[in-house]
Amino acid sequence: MPPVFSREIQRPLISTACLKSQTRTSPCEEACPAGNPIQKVQGLVKEKKYEEALEFLRARNPFPGTTGRICTHPCETDCNRREWDEPMNIRGLERAVADIADRTRVKKPARRVRSGNKIAVIGGGPAGLTSAYFSSLFGHEVTIFEAGPVLGGIPRLCVPEYRLPKDILDMEIGLVLETGVKARTNTRVGKDILFEEIRTSFDAVLIASGTWKERDLDIPNGDKAIKGVEFLRQVILGLIREVGRRVIIMGGGGVAFDCAFTARRLGADEVHVVCLEGEDCMVAPPDDLAQAREEGILIHNSCMASKVLEKDGHTTGVECFEISDFSFDAAGEARIESAGGEKKILFADTVIFAVGMKPELGFIKGAGIALNPNGTLKTDGVTMATSANGIFAAGDAATGPSIVASAVGQGREAALAIHRFLTGTPKADEVLVIGEDSQIRVEPLAREGRAHVVTFSEMFNPEYYEKAPRKKSGLSTWISFAERDAGLDGSAPAEAERCFHCGHCHTCGKCVEDCPGLILVMPERGPEVRYADECWHCGNCRISCPNAAVSYEFPLYTLV
Ligand SMILES: Cc1cc2nc3c(=O)[nH]c(=O)nc-3n(C[C@H](O)[C@H](O)[C@H](O)COP(=O)(O)OP(=O)(O)OC[C@H]3O[C@@H](n4cnc5c(N)ncnc54)[C@H](O)[C@@H]3O)c2cc1C
Ligand code: SF4
Ligand code: SF4
Ligand code: SF4
Repeated sequence: MPPVFSREIQRPLISTACLKSQTRTSPCEEACPAGNPIQKVQGLVKEKKYEEALEFLRARNPFPGTTGRICTHPCETDCNRREWDEPMNIRGLERAVADIADRTRVKKPARRVRSGNKIAVIGGGPAGLTSAYFSSLFGHEVTIFEAGPVLGGIPRLCVPEYRLPKDILDMEIGLVLETGVKARTNTRVGKDILFEEIRTSFDAVLIASGTWKERDLDIPNGDKAIKGVEFLRQVILGLIREVGRRVIIMGGGGVAFDCAFTARRLGADEVHVVCLEGEDCMVAPPDDLAQAREEGILIHNSCMASKVLEKDGHTTGVECFEISDFSFDAAGEARIESAGGEKKILFADTVIFAVGMKPELGFIKGAGIALNPNGTLKTDGVTMATSANGIFAAGDAATGPSIVASAVGQGREAALAIHRFLTGTPKADEVLVIGEDSQIRVEPLAREGRAHVVTFSEMFNPEYYEKAPRKKSGLSTWISFAERDAGLDGSAPAEAERCFHCGHCHTCGKCVEDCPGLILVMPERGPEVRYADECWHCGNCRISCPNAAVSYEFPLYTLV
């Protein structure tokens, strides 16, 4: 068998699940829950082909301007370049593509002829919108039922403006609606319309209602504190404009820090974050911790509130104590051990609880849909189906609180699963593809099993790539609601140059040059094995490749 080259960079098709259709891949792509074609996009940015890069991104993820700003970027954590100098600024490049591309020159995917099938989507967050987008391209008629006044879910209603300007998200939502998706906002399922009515009027239903029930702290006067997500929502809707001088936030995750930074922007000059986690095991993203230091947020680690203090119906502070350990049970409730020391009092004008969220699924009561112990919807990992026929689930409502990229990936998979259900196609290893002709279709996987993820130790000559510091975007130090991160803009191509394209061929020709038996040839589309029978099995092609794109495994004779 000849060496197997990755042809992803050459593929004429825009595959929505690149991971599933190639033999080798990069750790960044393996880690991206949205399925972004990262190294492909970076190859195009290097050549300043922003419009083409955006077409590739949007074929898998309709929200690159959003994930390019607020994703917690697990891709960068796993980037091989980390072992060489610094990880690639993958999120920054994704945002640069979304910001710089001339959208008037970006091809939009075509919608298929109407199938006659009707799909209801409950929840207009990233999962529901992504699923609606791909389902609509398949020609199905999609209606989103959204409880809130606007579409967009948590990113639209709760993520603060200084991290995600709402005009960016609104534009991306507009592109989803442009495909023919209908939306009924201010329509809470279970209150404004019954689940049963939706179930009987549609051919398939997707539940993507997120995790909107905020956990309580069962302590005296706990009900006097405002909940974190509700606080953020009311600030975005203009219902809360001031918080006083001192603010306490209970909780140590990203939501708690969003509340803290928002409180600073509403004028608070003393903001305390009180959390169970010790200093060395904080769950908030490192970027948040850096910003907290910069903005003077006071963090109280290994600490728990025992009482909310109040006077005349107004919160005045919290009583808290040091803890020695904590854990969470299967239902997600905290079990806390006190360190037994003195209690301390922190005074505040506003007390906010940001201690976790769970799904609010009262509307499916009696519908025979099974739940997991933590209250999320039980689904089949492949078909995304719940235990009830024709009812699917995606996003946080199925996974528990996660990230936007995961909701996007789940939404896309759900669209494919629902399409199979509606068209009576048996479960198969297939991917959803938008071709160069802008048509959506389903294609069989190009390989069996999972792609091999290329590690840094498999890259035999990284010195092919010069050491170069990661290009960072400028961060504003003004404490305001204006966007804090300025983006990469002009430095995007130079940053894209740094990518190793792990596991992917970038047609440098080195393997062909270094093959002593002249077995390989180099047509325009990339290296090819011309005289397989004469291969010496020396492995030079594998060793020469700067991207570890040549698949070469033991025993050698089976692959070479
Ligand atoms: C404050 C906060 C900040 C976050 N920051 C980040 C971040 O920086 N980066 C990141 O990647 N992730 C972040 N996340 C997580 C991310 O927002 C979620 O993982 C993602 O939004 C989940 O998408 P979803 O579509 O599953 O649910 P959601 O975004 O929650 O959307 C669900 C939608 O369903 C609607 N709905 C609920 N019940 C009903 C009903 N009965 N009838 C009709 N509609 C209903 C809701 O109004 C909502 O619009 C954050 C989460 C929070 C709470
Ligand atoms: S969506 Fe997130 S994980 Fe995926 S490429 Fe963008 S930043 Fe990385
Ligand atoms: S170097 Fe490029 S291809 Fe390799 S893991 Fe990093 S971003 Fe991905
Ligand atoms: S050496 Fe160059 S041409 Fe050969 S497989 Fe690797 S990247 Fe492609």
